[in-house]
Amino acid sequence: MYGSFILLVQAAVYLVAMAGIFRVRRTIGIGVFYCILGAMHFLETYLAAVFFIELPFGLISPGSTVMFTGKLAFFLLLYIKEDAESMRQPVYGLLYGNVLMVVLALILRFYGDPATLPGYNPDLRFLDQMGLLMLWGTFLLYIDLLAIVILYERLGVWVTRTLLGRIFLSLALVLSFDQLSFFMGLHLISGVPVSALWGGWIAKMGASAFFSLALGLYLRVCERSEPRDPPQAVADIFDRLTYRHRYEQLVARFGKDPLTGAEDRGQLEAKGPAMLQAALAIGRPASLMMIDIDHFKAINDRHGHPEGDRVIQAVAGTIGRAKRAEDQLFRYGGEEFVLLCAEAQPGALILAERIRRAVEDERHEGLERQVTVSIGIAAFPIDGRDFGTLLRQADAALYVAKARGRNRSLCAGELRSAERTASGRVRPS
Ligand code: GH3
Ligand code: MG
Ligand code: MG
Repeated sequence: MYGSFILLVQAAVYLVAMAGIFRVRRTIGIGVFYCILGAMHFLETYLAAVFFIELPFGLISPGSTVMFTGKLAFFLLLYIKEDAESMRQPVYGLLYGNVLMVVLALILRFYGDPATLPGYNPDLRFLDQMGLLMLWGTFLLYIDLLAIVILYERLGVWVTRTLLGRIFLSLALVLSFDQLSFFMGLHLISGVPVSALWGGWIAKMGASAFFSLALGLYLRVCERSEPRDPPQAVADIFDRLTYRHRYEQLVARFGKDPLTGAEDRGQLEAKGPAMLQAALAIGRPASLMMIDIDHFKAINDRHGHPEGDRVIQAVAGTIGRAKRAEDQLFRYGGEEFVLLCAEAQPGALILAERIRRAVEDERHEGLERQVTVSIGIAAFPIDGRDFGTLLRQADAALYVAKARGRNRSLCAGELRSAERTASGRVRPS
């Protein structure tokens, strides 16, 4: 009874420790989880060969059953929550690492017997046995993990769709195969008695039941929401030592205007023509808006440039909230913005008016006047078939909007029809 209790305690500690690390994988990186699996791999093989625990009914189990079952269960969890690609990496790492370890140990064995030290009695026969067992065990692990994924998928189609049932059956079947195969190795290489075969099998079935229940619960409770946060720096010495995060932050900022967070003019020049080409290819409309803050110089003059900066930031924020998610905002120059949207008239004008009113409604502490914007709109392809023309047309409309009193939106098309009416003839666009 005492042996079973010890295994149960071991299983509980294993579960809490590994599930905890797995849960924070997005923050600390999945590599931590892999290394822990790798670190325990050697001990499992060692325990399988030398440490036996007495179970009820005269059964004997190797001391590795809980750790080995736990490892397979967590590999399966890795497959369920991540993918086969993430699972493949530690499997190949373990295979390669074990082969390398045996090769390195063999090189030392060419040295012959180690130098004798008083009180030390090196067991070289055991070292040789462990090498062989590690290779056999890792090869089996490779087969086990392939089998567990195939079984997990097939069981979902053939036998049961319940998560618990699938985890338990795939674990139990693979561990039965593994127990028989690994035991043959143990028996041949280390002379482990047959009684350990049954005891080990029963202990592994018990551990399978424990880990499937526990993982089922873990998936239900802890993994309902994906830990989707981007990788974050852990506040430890490694963070201070690495520049990688700084570099990633720099890359993330590239192309962004630092004051407003909108994309910068370089991005506009790269994305604008590409967006028009894409719109042409799929026959979708597009519009370009030029948005300029009214009488902005006066704000700078009266309240200073830092306050002016805050106003630019606030206006960018308001435009960002008023536009739709798919519209793209760029800071074109000082207090000028360009908005690209997949919208023809009159939709673009409605959107422009929404933006204009949102800016007008925003209160700015310390400013005696409202902050307003004027907007010039050019539609593609009616107002221009290339990006440069479209930009010029929007700018011309903005200029007229300013001249007509500011705080208004104007379409380039409307301007042309007004000109046509005035001159009584059709001007080429
Ligand atoms: P209008 O209504 O005709 O647009 O009048 P305006 O005063 O806004 O005129 P204009 O658009 O030409 O003014 C732009 C001013 O914005 C000029 C420049 O001093 C100021 N400016 C440009 N970039 C920045 C910036 O990053 N921060 C601040 N505070 N001011 C800037
Ligand atoms: Mg301006
Ligand atoms: Mg202005």
